[in-house]
Amino acid sequence: MQFAAGVIIRACVQRCRSCSSQTLGWRVQWKRSYSFLKDDVKSLRAVANPDVSKIRNIGIMAHIDAGKTTTTERMLYYSGYTRALGDVDDGDTVTDYMAQERERGITIQSAAVTFDWKEHRVNLIDTPGHVDFTLEVERALRVLDGAVAVFDASAGVEAQTLTVWRQAEKHQIPCVCFLNKMDKPGASLSYSLESIRRKLKANPVLLQVPIGSGKGFTGLVDLITKQRMTWQGKSCSEDGRVFENRVLQSTDDPELWEEANKARGALLEQLADVDDEFAELLLGEYGDNFDAVPAEKLREAVRRVTLSRKAVPVLCGSSLKNKGVQPLLDAITEYLPAPNERNHDLVRWYKDDLCALAFKVVHDKQRGPLVFLRIYSGSLKPQSSVYNINRNGTERISRVLLPFADRHVEIPSLSAGNIALTVGLKQTVTGDTIVSSKASAVAAARRAQRGVEEAQNGVEEAQRGSGRESSSLVLAGVEVPEPVFFCTIEPPTMSKQADLEHALNCLQREDPSLKVRTDPDSGQTILCGMGELHIEIMHDRIKREYNIETHLGPLQVAYRETILQSVTATDTLDRTLGEKRHIVTVELTVSPWVESVTSAQCNIAYDGNIETQLSAEVKEAVDNGVQSAYLQGPVLGYPVQCVSTVIQSVCVEPGSSLAMVSACVSRCMLKALQQAGGQVLEPVMSLEVTVGEEYLSAVLGDLAQRRGSVHDIQSRHDNKMLLATVPLAEMMGYSTVLRTLTSGNATFSMELSSYEPMNPQAQNTLLNKMAGLS
Ligand code: GDP
Ligand code: MG
Repeated sequence: MQFAAGVIIRACVQRCRSCSSQTLGWRVQWKRSYSFLKDDVKSLRAVANPDVSKIRNIGIMAHIDAGKTTTTERMLYYSGYTRALGDVDDGDTVTDYMAQERERGITIQSAAVTFDWKEHRVNLIDTPGHVDFTLEVERALRVLDGAVAVFDASAGVEAQTLTVWRQAEKHQIPCVCFLNKMDKPGASLSYSLESIRRKLKANPVLLQVPIGSGKGFTGLVDLITKQRMTWQGKSCSEDGRVFENRVLQSTDDPELWEEANKARGALLEQLADVDDEFAELLLGEYGDNFDAVPAEKLREAVRRVTLSRKAVPVLCGSSLKNKGVQPLLDAITEYLPAPNERNHDLVRWYKDDLCALAFKVVHDKQRGPLVFLRIYSGSLKPQSSVYNINRNGTERISRVLLPFADRHVEIPSLSAGNIALTVGLKQTVTGDTIVSSKASAVAAARRAQRGVEEAQNGVEEAQRGSGRESSSLVLAGVEVPEPVFFCTIEPPTMSKQADLEHALNCLQREDPSLKVRTDPDSGQTILCGMGELHIEIMHDRIKREYNIETHLGPLQVAYRETILQSVTATDTLDRTLGEKRHIVTVELTVSPWVESVTSAQCNIAYDGNIETQLSAEVKEAVDNGVQSAYLQGPVLGYPVQCVSTVIQSVCVEPGSSLAMVSACVSRCMLKALQQAGGQVLEPVMSLEVTVGEEYLSAVLGDLAQRRGSVHDIQSRHDNKMLLATVPLAEMMGYSTVLRTLTSGNATFSMELSSYEPMNPQAQNTLLNKMAGLS
């Protein structure tokens, strides 16, 4: 949908200084000024709502340090949205916009940026590379249609890429690979391709061959057009904007000519292998004459195999040295899907009504929460009310913005397929579904219901309508992993407690993987997170953005508890409160629940027909009693898992209150759990360490002391990659130790693998330690 003539756009008004910097409450002296090109307003008017086929919602994912941020910066620069090249090493990039990120040189928040490239609108989401923030990645992937995986060409596929790649696979997201850092002496095309094949189990199709290697890397030959692109020479600009682009001749460099021809032949064969249409074309029309296959036909084939995920196009370059980024941008627009080419199942029930997913919330001191929305259907307008299905409430959007680089541009409406930044939504939390009105949600529900019925009647809908999606009109949210670390957090004075609670509320709306709870015994506020860095960053943000100097208690591991044997216990509670006498007797059995080991849950069942004999209220009180006992195990007070409870009998004397029923059940549960032999379960992490060979033994020795077990040691280039599992409790401060042990020649990543029973010795040590602490 284009703009109607005469619509005035209040565009290009806010600079970052008035927006995201205030959002985040920090003052950074901008070393350089980023500003729009003069005719931006004009071009914006033309493309504020581009045709949906021209939109690309793209994630950029990679292992930390592979060069995501540098690549993003180059994209913004070449597309004309920034005037100077940002540099992560100087800490002045656009996308790494939180102060902590600038200081640490890592990308934590997935900041969305919008820019245009050759008549296409690209919404780019920079996903974090640190394992503590996989939820951010998952959340970003949820709203993307395609992704670019950036690799360090000297390292190939690294641990975190593998995790993110798996997530992309889960969401069926078509990808393009970019082998960055081709300028490094250790860069290896063949090694990187092999590792994509072996580790990602993907089918890489190489679209370019590099010209020169290491420091001598000067450009690329595009195998589709046989164009030779070089970024070195008199006619080229230092910033890489201007480069030489001409057809490769056999006289240029006979070796390169031969290499390119061979690679092109391999590309055609690979495409024919996975794409029948292309195979037919090749056999039928062109025979063996590969040279005659037009570039357009090749591009179409590459696009088909990319969208069907039968193959991944691979491109090369060096973002830092300003080489190869423009062809990458071309590949994004040419091979990755437009929003209407992706099947977002539930959305069809909304037809042309608004349906959008809130995928990120950022807090702005002046304007309140800013919510990033991916619009799936319908359109979004400022000054309109919308209905939040998850919160079951109506809210008002006051302004709709496009996040062009570091500027937020206000626009009068935004249509399906786009990503919008909205002002005004106060209740919306990351993961919520936003529609135009309650009536629209009801209408969609009706359509969905009809769809399901038709599907059941065997109508064509059968293949498409999945029961789960239709019955729920909420866009599938993001799975929130259980936090593994926690610590107490205290305000400097009690008068700041309310401010702290407000800050924690805001942070939780932004990041559902952060959990906050109150310790029932001490009344202290407890912060639970995904890792040391996660909690540290939250602590930092509370200080910088909310101006509260908090004190964190020691970081503790979130243990779990279970039991080793079945026990039956009875308990009678006989208490007189005021005039009333309450008498409740229960008998129950707790047993280890082996079937639930993977889901790590507990359950409640009733013996015989006693469930039918209890009134609904009494049953609820019994359930509450059991559940509250599950929350605090008998050994150390950690949540209980993999336990099954069977209620044998409940006897409630007339006049006894329901609270007393719950209390009696809880007490009886505690007794039974204590007798059943408490077992502490500890989080065990799967760990990947990549380390230079000379440091391998030091790392192995250290891991042995951490109760780690090594499963595999693989060779990769000059490095070793070590796969192990290690109890989380032993991994505090590991990054510092690893850096010292290897003089900085190692990287690692870890994620929760499972909860495992502690051996009796380790459990005793823990119990003593806890006793000493308390
Ligand atoms: P991110 O963690 O993936 O966002 O990576 P960054 O963009 O922050 O880059 C990490 C480091 O690699 C920085 O020191 C960059 O200067 C450097 N870097 C990025 N791209 C290249 C490249 O093409 N070649 C080389 N040699 N270094 C690069
Ligand atoms: Mg980064």
